[in-house]
Amino acid sequence: MSRGSFDARSLTPQAQAVVDAGPICDACLGGAFGQLGRGMSNPERGRAVRAALAEAAPPATGTACWVCGGLFGEVEEWARRAVARVADVEFGTYLFGMRPTPRLREVEAYFHERFASEAAEPLRHAFNRSVGKAFEALVGRGTVDFQDPDVSFTVDLVKDDVTVRLASLFLYGRYRKLVRGIPQTHWPCRRCRGRGCPACGGSGKQYPESVEEIVARPFVAAARAAGAHLHGAGREDIDARMLGTGRPFVLEIVSPRVRSLDLKALAGELASEAAGRVEVAELRWVGRDAVAQVKETRATKRYRARVALSAEVDEASLQRALTALVGEIEQRTPQRVAHRRADLVRRRRVHEVQGRVTAPREAEIELVTDGGLYVKELVSGDDGRTNPSLSALLGVPAAVAALDVMRITSSEFPDGESSSMDEPDGVA
Ligand SMILES: [Zn+2]
Ligand SMILES: [Zn+2]
Repeated sequence: MSRGSFDARSLTPQAQAVVDAGPICDACLGGAFGQLGRGMSNPERGRAVRAALAEAAPPATGTACWVCGGLFGEVEEWARRAVARVADVEFGTYLFGMRPTPRLREVEAYFHERFASEAAEPLRHAFNRSVGKAFEALVGRGTVDFQDPDVSFTVDLVKDDVTVRLASLFLYGRYRKLVRGIPQTHWPCRRCRGRGCPACGGSGKQYPESVEEIVARPFVAAARAAGAHLHGAGREDIDARMLGTGRPFVLEIVSPRVRSLDLKALAGELASEAAGRVEVAELRWVGRDAVAQVKETRATKRYRARVALSAEVDEASLQRALTALVGEIEQRTPQRVAHRRADLVRRRRVHEVQGRVTAPREAEIELVTDGGLYVKELVSGDDGRTNPSLSALLGVPAAVAALDVMRITSSEFPDGESSSMDEPDGVA
């Protein structure tokens, strides 16, 4: 017989062998032929093949079934427990999975080995589908989604529990950081590593707030989410501002209990709460893929730096040094980040530099570089670890006194504005 059609009589020899092995419920008997007969449920298949047998033992009930041990009799109960877990959760799609007990795993393997058949359906597939159908009937909403469900349930037979995972929401945008001293993401307190101690006033944080927390707050509250992660296209130093058209990011809203969010209203709320510190633009919903895209994007950066010089430098010397700075830079991992970054030598380009002497011992420079070039070290030389450096070219120790990121340009995340040296923000 062809795969797909269902003829109970033709299955009799196989069905008899299964029934003879021990008491079995209709769902498990039907599951042995689960790939046959479109539109039938496994218990219906089981009843049909049982009726065709010459000597049919009655279906096993309760825990008597030697295959599932009564699991298929508990489908409704598991569905009810799942419904209770999402009483206050908004979702459109769902998926059920299960964690079998070791006993069930062994019995299932034994069953498929002893009654090997292409027509058989794995027990867990049958169970997941059955619970899903019962769940949908009870809750009166939702569609199964095998790829990217809003809600994923796991019927954990080992722990006798239903666990729920709510898929994250992902929001793309670009942020501007208008003040210094705010990290991009929250930093656990160095002293207590986040547990809370007198040094951090019990907050567990090294800095009272971050771009991540500022941007996330209204969205986490509206989504009744567990939290949020900001994935940035690189990050500026805590003491650097992020100006111009901003830095691309994806905000991941974790475990949202509400999914239909009013983006415009929340953007307005964010704008008034964060005014003067952080601004966000171009907000739109994106898929999970955007996280990797935004983190891997290779962007060029335009910076403006106020440079403190330890001796007087004339304009002509500065111009000569800046001209010599354009080109390839060899940069060993800076000492200030060596504790958390691999020690290696990077090659990055300085594409253009302009600047002028602004005070006897001060210059202002603006430069365009590859992403991943450390600008503070490009200026200071980092004890010879960055070559060439402005400091070495001038023959005068130099250090960045204030740094702003003026523009981030990436082909994947265009900002739709032309580059400009006439940024209205002054170097503060
Ligand atoms: Zn069974
Ligand atoms: Zn602390």
